[in-house]
Amino acid sequence: MKNALVYFFLLVIFLVIDSQEVSAVSAVKYIPVAINDQIIHFPDAIPVVQDQTTYVPVRFFSDFIPATLSVIKPGVISLKSKGKSLILYTSQNEIHFSNGQKMKIKLFVQDGRTYAPIRSLSEYFGFQVHYLSEGPIVRLVNTETITERQLFLEMNESKIISFYQKANQDQRPKVYLTFDDGPNPGIKDILDILKNKKAKATFFMIEPQMRSYPNDVRRLVAEGHYPALHSVSHNKQQLYGGKPYAVATEMLKTRKTLYDLTGVKSMLTRVPYGSKPYMVKSFRDELARYQFKMWDWDIDTLDWENQSNPQQIYTNMKAGFQQERNGNKSIVILFHINKGTVEALPEIIDYIYAQGFQCAAYDPSEHFVVNFWGDARL
Ligand SMILES: [Zn+2]
Repeated sequence: MKNALVYFFLLVIFLVIDSQEVSAVSAVKYIPVAINDQIIHFPDAIPVVQDQTTYVPVRFFSDFIPATLSVIKPGVISLKSKGKSLILYTSQNEIHFSNGQKMKIKLFVQDGRTYAPIRSLSEYFGFQVHYLSEGPIVRLVNTETITERQLFLEMNESKIISFYQKANQDQRPKVYLTFDDGPNPGIKDILDILKNKKAKATFFMIEPQMRSYPNDVRRLVAEGHYPALHSVSHNKQQLYGGKPYAVATEMLKTRKTLYDLTGVKSMLTRVPYGSKPYMVKSFRDELARYQFKMWDWDIDTLDWENQSNPQQIYTNMKAGFQQERNGNKSIVILFHINKGTVEALPEIIDYIYAQGFQCAAYDPSEHFVVNFWGDARL
């Protein structure tokens, strides 16, 4: 339990040191808030950290001051409490206090909620604002009779941890973008697009290609994508024309090269040309023997035959998505790294987001079966 707190604490320190990373590291953009001894429950919009400042959704927060909130007109919100009042002017980024004082502050709207800095909202109404880095948690205090700091943290430890677990979980269902046959010169463009769109992906790589482009392999791992295995030879005859262990043997070699380059011991394979019809039981037994997993795909974008027609790749993807979509079920999409795919990718990711999905990288701890044989071992 303690470790989790330390972990979040370190992440916050990291953000403070390098605030450019704030948007990239979504892991710590939220923080719990307590008033005296009580952690506040925010029903949907929760406090957000930006540039080392904690912002709270004004409407929910006003209940806890407690203050009476009224919207004077769109973008102008007043809070009144115990004979004092303040007015927020969202488009001017200004706050006016009833004592005549004015302040420039950042205000913003997110998911339909107006956010303001917690300090500006609460100090005027008599709260002291404490930042407890061990949580981290923001604690507002307006009474002498509160629990001592250490005890307060211990009492609320499990609540703080569950706040972070919940806040940091992306609840959207997952699409797995998977790219075969790399690395090759086109992978840089793919990685740039993924970074720009905040999307994660899975790369099924060929062993000699990894040796040719080692920096791209390291980069994709560093940027949070999953490195997966796609054989050495990529040759039908060599893989499937002889002994049943040929595929497993190539995957072991590919895994070793990946490990030497990155330190990642990848468990996920995709066999060239898909697992049907070649991966009959004796071949699959060999993969299973080494605890490999084997993914095919749900949607084939046919990008390999539409390299000069990105619009067709997009159309194929969309048609497949509409067909495969089934509640919150994850969807695995097959791509190759080529010119058409690079051109179609931004629009494809936008489409996926617009459908309410996230683009996630394969996670071994959340493995699920996606192979044409329905082989549950793989
Ligand atoms: Zn391939």
